[in-house]
Amino acid sequence: MSELAADRRRLAYLEALGIEVWLLKEGPRAEGKGPRAKEQFLTSSVAETTAPNRAAESQGTAPRPSTLGPRPSGLDFSELDWPELQARVANCEKCELHNSRTQTVFGVGNPAADLLVVGEAPGADEDRLGEPFVGRAGQLLTAMLRAIGLQRGDVYIANILKCRPPGNRNPSLDEAAACQGYLQRQIALVQPKLILAVGAVAARNLLGSAEPVGSLRRRVHSYGPAAIPVLVSYHPAYLLRQPEEKAKAWEDLQQAARLLG
Ligand code: URA
Ligand code: SF4
Repeated sequence: MSELAADRRRLAYLEALGIEVWLLKEGPRAEGKGPRAKEQFLTSSVAETTAPNRAAESQGTAPRPSTLGPRPSGLDFSELDWPELQARVANCEKCELHNSRTQTVFGVGNPAADLLVVGEAPGADEDRLGEPFVGRAGQLLTAMLRAIGLQRGDVYIANILKCRPPGNRNPSLDEAAACQGYLQRQIALVQPKLILAVGAVAARNLLGSAEPVGSLRRRVHSYGPAAIPVLVSYHPAYLLRQPEEKAKAWEDLQQAARLLG
């Protein structure tokens, strides 16, 4: 297919999604952000077949009561600095997941980020590499961030759980409760302007709400005593399964970009 025909097809696709269309001109300023990045995210087909799919089952349906909202862990990490916190996580045996993990997955990115992205838990790739969102869902998350002009290194990325649940099952209530102090401290250290919770598990654990992503998105929630604004959107693993939902995720990202100023 000629380049022009390919562009026409992409434009038709974007129009079919019912979203604003830009002219897809390449230029020095287009690199890494703006229209091309947006188009790449909306049309990206980062592997439909073997996408990790932990988040997909719990999207858009009522969450299971057994995973509703963590209880306080009773542990205070409020004095810990980054290296101390990281060491605690690396050696943590507070829940049974320490038995099956290859390694813990602490979090990654800019420790002074304006945007903190919270996912669910490491998958197989993350467990192997020790970094959150590095598998196929992670590639899509990276593309989503690029669509609003952010590189991975600009933001901070963490998960509700620091260890992989076997078989990518959902985190249990007890696991989420055991692990929550670590994320709490990460958020306190980063002091982001905005938290983006991707997927029902992140939303539920951060907001204590049992509502599905579909009804939590588009509202500005708040987290903790510092009342950090929280937006909820779809998990990238879910978007790999349901690419027609990417248009909604794009709206959510634009709202995030507006709130970040
Ligand atoms: N899914 C998540 O929620 N987090 C990861 O780090 C990878 C996949
Ligand atoms: Fe500790 Fe969290 Fe890993 Fe459980 S999931 S062992 S609480 S770091």
